[in-house]
Amino acid sequence: MKKPLPTVSAPTLVCTLPVSGVKLKYRPFVIREQKAMLLAQESKDADAIIETIKSVLSSCTHGELQFDKIPTADLGYFFLQLRIASAGPEVKFGIECEKCSTEIVASMSLSDVTVDKSKMITDVKITDTVGIRFRLPTIEDALENDVADAKSTKMLYSLIDIVYDEDSVYQKSDYTEEEFNDWIEGLNDQQLVEIKKFVDGIPELTHTLTFTCSSCSHTQSRTLEGLHNFFRFGPDA
Ligand SMILES: [Zn+2]
Repeated sequence: MKKPLPTVSAPTLVCTLPVSGVKLKYRPFVIREQKAMLLAQESKDADAIIETIKSVLSSCTHGELQFDKIPTADLGYFFLQLRIASAGPEVKFGIECEKCSTEIVASMSLSDVTVDKSKMITDVKITDTVGIRFRLPTIEDALENDVADAKSTKMLYSLIDIVYDEDSVYQKSDYTEEEFNDWIEGLNDQQLVEIKKFVDGIPELTHTLTFTCSSCSHTQSRTLEGLHNFFRFGPDA
């Protein structure tokens, strides 16, 4: 009888997610997973890309990554750590010069990408006595709602954890979505400004890139923010 080929063990790495503080054990991705990601990237189908990334992240963490719990910035950060562990930190990509529109090749190190959580507020006081505690959006929220539409009543509703005042805590599950929407739409502008501080402070992956155009020599900066800007860095970028 033939012996099975030897088991090749993968290194176990550990990463602490910057927003939630969750510690994750993971292994680098394997060739089969790299191929799947390349195919998804080539399809340019956003849903296929996200589904493939989810499946790879899940295998690389032995199913321990909870997509419905961890904030999107943590997910993006983890994806980058995994990419760095598997294929190194350097990436090259096309970027358009703001002055002459020439497409130039920019390069950067994914190790320089950070998560900005300096403005994060999840507890919002809308009056002296009434407050809302929010939870941070996850990839599941981002898939269900248009991310750019984070101020929509639907998105706000889905991100409310509890409402409270001096005497009580109001659990979301005790009210219908309609009752909540009526309540949100009854708020005034100033109260919405307070809520907007939560929306604006949602942590994001961010990196400011400074580069010089090879065609017109103009030096410029561009800030990359959010998941879509970083999920494109598959194994071959
Ligand atoms: Zn230029």
